[in-house]
Amino acid sequence: MSIRPTFDQALREYRKLRPEQTASPFPPECYESLTEVHQRVNDARTANGLPCIPICPKCGFWKGVRGYLRFPFPLGHPYFGFAIPCPLCNGRR
Ligand SMILES: [Zn+2]
Repeated sequence: MSIRPTFDQALREYRKLRPEQTASPFPPECYESLTEVHQRVNDARTANGLPCIPICPKCGFWKGVRGYLRFPFPLGHPYFGFAIPCPLCNGRR
């Protein structure tokens, strides 16, 4: 049974697979989709005169929620399918 990797472990492994991501502190494909969804919710709220709900800038989860990231590890990789805790909204700074 495998143990869920930490964000640092996942990032290290992911960079081995995607060397072009070495310069990026946060692989964008790991969090952009959720950020976009929540941004659309906030756009709709703004259009209706409602205040925006703060979003974690790293994982895109709502602030106050312990968010996670999904690294796109390929099927068969030991880290495939894990939800990796977001280092920003899970206490680590
Ligand atoms: Zn987060």
